[in-house]
Amino acid sequence: MEYPTIIGVASGKGGTGKTTVAVNLALHLAEQYPVALLDLDVEEPNDNHFLHRSMVHFQDVGLMRPEVDEDSCTHCGLCAELCEFNALAVLPDQVMIFAELCHGCGLCSLACPVNAITEHFHKLGAVTKSENPLANESSVYKKNLTFYEGTLNVGEAIATPMIHELKKIAFDQKESKHVILDLPPGSACPVVEGLADLDIVILVTEPTPAGEHDLCIAIELVKQLEVPFAIINNRSDVGDDRINRLVQENDYNLLLEIPHDNEILYLYSRGLPLVGATQKFDELFTKLWKNVKDGKNWQMQK
Ligand code: SF4
Ligand code: SF4
Repeated sequence: MEYPTIIGVASGKGGTGKTTVAVNLALHLAEQYPVALLDLDVEEPNDNHFLHRSMVHFQDVGLMRPEVDEDSCTHCGLCAELCEFNALAVLPDQVMIFAELCHGCGLCSLACPVNAITEHFHKLGAVTKSENPLANESSVYKKNLTFYEGTLNVGEAIATPMIHELKKIAFDQKESKHVILDLPPGSACPVVEGLADLDIVILVTEPTPAGEHDLCIAIELVKQLEVPFAIINNRSDVGDDRINRLVQENDYNLLLEIPHDNEILYLYSRGLPLVGATQKFDELFTKLWKNVKDGKNWQMQK
């Protein structure tokens, strides 16, 4: 493989433990390899709550939005006809632009027969990158971990350009052997953008009706995108056996079961990672990585 192994961590819904898995898997791997961790949950990034890294600006992210010169416009209506996001409406004497619907595809300006449309950069947010660890940093894993975070500006509705830029960073990684992507929760457009072209994705769920329902939606999505996947059943002893039944009935791959543990809640509430806290959590993520590396867990599942 020419580029580093790119591992997504996703969940059909929020609150399943996705971020805990992503951050701690990255920290575990960083004990041995150079690793990059990217927080793609750009509407509510929180990986750094457990990393406490100081961040510096890396790049602005935005899109090109159209602006119409009404003096040149003939109000032919072509731009509105072509815009698949309904971001334009052409009235007899005015072109209305619904900026929050525009995805910056550029089609309207290309198509305008009288060149009445120009494009202007609109900033959606920014990607920040962790500063190099200080020379006196004592922890080995911190030296090997580079962390990127995307943050959407308040009020912006379109997250996909930000996810796209973070994915480009992931695929451009030269210095990292592994890249961990903490994807947004759910199964909407930002998740689809985040899932595309990953090497593998870990789906984190919990044994509740909502957990099973949203996991099934996520599985359908990753199957359509043809991303190899496996499942982590978090708080496995709190609900019922519905996830185990789902796994057995469909021959899905169950990577790991994480039983409920008050110590996890304690560490979470204090913004502390599991890896490095106690031996049992180090062993948990050692086991997870061993199962991830086991090739039979990652056969493409149709
Ligand atoms: S395609 Fe150009 S000329 Fe036609 S309505 Fe749109 S901006 Fe005006
Ligand atoms: S740039 Fe694309 S999405 Fe935006 S208004 Fe033009 S055609 Fe629609």
